[in-house]
Amino acid sequence: MRNRSLYNLTCTYVIALSLIAFLTLAIFITMHQLILTQTNSARLVNLSGSQRWLSQKTSLLSLELVCETNTGEQNHIRKQLLDTTVQMQETHQDLILPINLSQQMQKMYFESPVNLQSQVNRYVSEAQALAKEPSESLTPNNPRLIYLLQNNEDLLESLNQVVSLYQQESEAKIRSLEVLEIISGVILLLTLAFLGLYIFRPLANNLQNEKVQLEKANQELGFLSSVDGLTLIANRRQFDQFLTQTWSLAARNADPIALIMCDIDFFKAYNDHYGHLEGDECLKKVAAALKKSVKRAGDLVARYGGEEFAVVLPKTDSVGAANVAETLRDCVESLEIPHLYSSVTPKITISLGVAIKYATPDVLPETLIQAADKALYQAKENGRNRVVLENETSTISQT
Ligand code: GH3
Ligand code: MG
Ligand code: MG
Repeated sequence: MRNRSLYNLTCTYVIALSLIAFLTLAIFITMHQLILTQTNSARLVNLSGSQRWLSQKTSLLSLELVCETNTGEQNHIRKQLLDTTVQMQETHQDLILPINLSQQMQKMYFESPVNLQSQVNRYVSEAQALAKEPSESLTPNNPRLIYLLQNNEDLLESLNQVVSLYQQESEAKIRSLEVLEIISGVILLLTLAFLGLYIFRPLANNLQNEKVQLEKANQELGFLSSVDGLTLIANRRQFDQFLTQTWSLAARNADPIALIMCDIDFFKAYNDHYGHLEGDECLKKVAAALKKSVKRAGDLVARYGGEEFAVVLPKTDSVGAANVAETLRDCVESLEIPHLYSSVTPKITISLGVAIKYATPDVLPETLIQAADKALYQAKENGRNRVVLENETSTISQT
């Protein structure tokens, strides 16, 4: 179920990202078109402007040619006039490139009433013909000169119309591109908001939930790995870790550590006669009783293995440890669990070995275990249901 919603979220996320990519591309293309349109429009307005200037130069040169009497100067003006007309032709060719021309523009260039193409062609050919006329024909009454002077105004007017049409067209195009850009930008922002609200928020929630569940599972796992499954007190693993940590802390502070090893008396006989399940129940009761009897927060009661328990008492001297051990022994006996096959007394009892050591970094905590084990062995030897302190051959408690 969670996987399905994660899959749906991922799909929506991919679609939203694709939309963002598409919109970003659209905005980029629109911007590119805007720049192109502006550049093109500026170029066309420039070309039309220079065409106007060239047509005026043509008419002025024609007039100068007619007025000039010096043949050398005349030839120079003829050449200038021819060059100017060639420039006009070239500029005109640039202006009528199909890429530059809208339908309206084509009308203006090639159809009546303006027909700029024929106006320019006629103007250019008249100017070129004038430039080639013999000197004697170059009089103020020359019909070509009259044509050039009379039509210059018309040509200028037509070129003006062309410029304003170019401007109108490019402004309209820029306006529509700007609208397109704004729409793309708004959709982009909406998509981003949608991503935040409907993708990232649930995604973050999902992740948070996963994290909480993982932490919970981790805690459970940590608990399971440190607790004995039957008695629900600390297991051997936790005991080892706890003893190592307490040992190094005690080594730093020069504190004593006490360890009590407890073992149920004649438990094999108990199992044999009352059954393994009863044996388990007995272990649970003994563990609970031991745990209940140890009051200090820093102490640890653990199942050491089988029917053996270990109690670690940090910062405790031999008197304190012996007292705790006696309390434990008494507490178990007070449970009054019948054990008719015990050679000590007809109820469940425990034997306890106590060892106390001042921890040092060069001595291992195992020495404490060995010492407590030795004392426990001694307690069994001395008759069970008793506490023996390490290095003391005598029993310190006995019922
Ligand atoms: P002693 O007084 O010398 O300690 O004798 P004992 O019979 O208690 O000691 P022994 O080591 O001979 O037997 C221990 C018994 O504890 C053997 C085993 O069946 C029993 N035991 C160990 N672990 C469990 C357990 O988890 N459940 C049950 N029911 N019995 C267990
Ligand atoms: Mg044992
Ligand atoms: Mg035993």
